[in-house]
Amino acid sequence: MNLFDSSYFTYKSDELFCENVSVKKIIQEVGTPAYIYSKNFFIDRYKEFTEAFEEIPHTIFFAAKSNFNINVIKTFVDLGSGVDVNSEGELKRALLAGADPRKLILTGVGKTLNEIRLGLQKDLLMIKAESEEELELINTIAGEMKKVARVAIRVNPDVDAQTHPYISTGLSENKFGIDTKSALGLFKDKNRFKNILFTGIDMHIGSQITSIQPFTEAVEKLSQIYFELKDSGVHLKHFDVGGGIGVKYGYEETFSIQDYAKAISPILKKLDCHIFFEPGRFLTANGGILVAQILYTKKNGEKNFIIADAAMNDIIRPSIYGAHHHIQPVEVHSDRAEIISDIVGPVCETGDFLGRKRKIQESKRGEYIAVMSAGAYGMVMASNYNARRKPPEVLVANDKFYVIRSRETYDHLLFDEKIINS
Ligand SMILES: *Cc1c(COP(=O)(O)O)cnc(C)c1O
Repeated sequence: MNLFDSSYFTYKSDELFCENVSVKKIIQEVGTPAYIYSKNFFIDRYKEFTEAFEEIPHTIFFAAKSNFNINVIKTFVDLGSGVDVNSEGELKRALLAGADPRKLILTGVGKTLNEIRLGLQKDLLMIKAESEEELELINTIAGEMKKVARVAIRVNPDVDAQTHPYISTGLSENKFGIDTKSALGLFKDKNRFKNILFTGIDMHIGSQITSIQPFTEAVEKLSQIYFELKDSGVHLKHFDVGGGIGVKYGYEETFSIQDYAKAISPILKKLDCHIFFEPGRFLTANGGILVAQILYTKKNGEKNFIIADAAMNDIIRPSIYGAHHHIQPVEVHSDRAEIISDIVGPVCETGDFLGRKRKIQESKRGEYIAVMSAGAYGMVMASNYNARRKPPEVLVANDKFYVIRSRETYDHLLFDEKIINS
């Protein structure tokens, strides 16, 4: 068995620990399925990122959409991070987590009028605009509120991020951003957006990008626009590189943050402005696991199945992206044989699987398994499909653990419904 471990999730006497806490001990208290996060992973990852760009004046804006638990956001905020928020809900969470509004960026291809108004009311650092119509709306709302809106235009650099098509965002065929030519026109159109101050230029070309080349290409393209604007009298204060850095889920090749810094820093150094980064997955993915209990094991013909109590409603990445997450036992029995098995959930969909054709020790009903690297786009994408309750979240710090969100109750699920007589 190939066990994926790190100093944050590691085996001690064949038993999985998160930092210095036994995973089984946590599960005995909160039940399964449950998300468990390592706080020290988040902290160390953030520091690794910011140290890699030591020579460059920069700010990290944690992309809250990857893991929006208020305690996770707070972990980054306490380290000095800003937050990139995608919606009114994420904005509220960031504020609850103690983020300074002047360190918040409002992002998103389809912001509502209310979200824009809220962004201006709270005086956020900047709003990113992704279309000409949105710029017009921001301008109008700011005028009504007698404010000047600080805005960055998200440019679509038309670069192939070479990632899964659903999370590739920087090609002109994708819905995100404004094409280079139009963006230049809008930035320069001084008389049109009287209530807008253009403070930055932004891009985000996709997620789970595992090679550096798309980043260097896109940063280079964006820097050319920056200089062209500068020459024509538009001086931007912020240059936002976005997020998208890929992480290791399985056996894929990725690059280190130091290599990433080495590749793009020479371009960034030439710019006379403050650099923004918006990592999400990089900061959180490998810092979390989803623990499940085995409900049944069975064999259909030659095929083995492990039926766990976690399903696609708890973690949807395998189902929608065909994403690989290592799945491994919480307790290793090295004397047992290994089998190849599909590991599936209880939801009524063939697409409900955690992993297919996985090599794993022969397992028994009642034992626990861990879905690794589940700290990003895990809980935040959970749903109530099959009227299942969303799982709890636990944050581990050294030898202590904290339930940072409890398991939903059925009252919770039925809160908004009542029987009517029609
Ligand atoms: C999703 C997103 C991010 C974070 O992406 P990761 O791949 O998780 O790093 C950053 N910026 C924007 C605009 C996003 O939409």
